[in-house]
Amino acid sequence: MIVIMFGPPGSGKGTQSSLLKEKRGWSHLSTGDILRSEVKQQTELGLKAKAFMESGQLVPDQLVIDMLFAHMDGAEGAILDGFPRTLTQAQALEAELGKRELDYKVFSLELSQEELETRLTGRRVCSSCGTLYHLNFFPPAQEGQCDSCQSQLEQRPDDSLEVVRKRLSVYFEQTYPVKAFYEELGKLKSLDGTMDKHEIQNSIHMNIN
Ligand SMILES: [Zn+2]
Repeated sequence: MIVIMFGPPGSGKGTQSSLLKEKRGWSHLSTGDILRSEVKQQTELGLKAKAFMESGQLVPDQLVIDMLFAHMDGAEGAILDGFPRTLTQAQALEAELGKRELDYKVFSLELSQEELETRLTGRRVCSSCGTLYHLNFFPPAQEGQCDSCQSQLEQRPDDSLEVVRKRLSVYFEQTYPVKAFYEELGKLKSLDGTMDKHEIQNSIHMNIN
């Protein structure tokens, strides 16, 4: 069984993937992590990917898919986190899953643009000791001040509204169409991304065997 976690940055895909991995003992396949580890360990696939990256090209979809499946062996199920990101990738994955006769389900975490912006811009970091906070999820006791060293909290440039809006617009342009693809195939289950993380996890469990 393959579970595809789908949703925009800030939707909690990674958290849900980790919870599911913990509960079921499945492999958590994050494309970014796998790509980095294959390249670092200089595997055959990693070396191929490295050649594309070094010449400034995108790593071909099929190569990424081969890597994902190479990391899947042994476990009863796997969670895809961050893949597919484009319609072309979704089609390539669909062909591969068909060839391997693997069943899958897609969970889409739904959040409004406004909610995503709040989440993604809420992170604060201590300018002195580096402790991370979040205005909504993990606020400091004193506004703008680090709990452990009382230094000033800052927002990283990557978490600014301008950068966050750019990331979200890339997502809605390139990745969002993947949702309709799975909807048409009858594989998509939408979940309210604002629910408590354990409630979301329970819904996921109830929808997989
Ligand atoms: Zn501090």
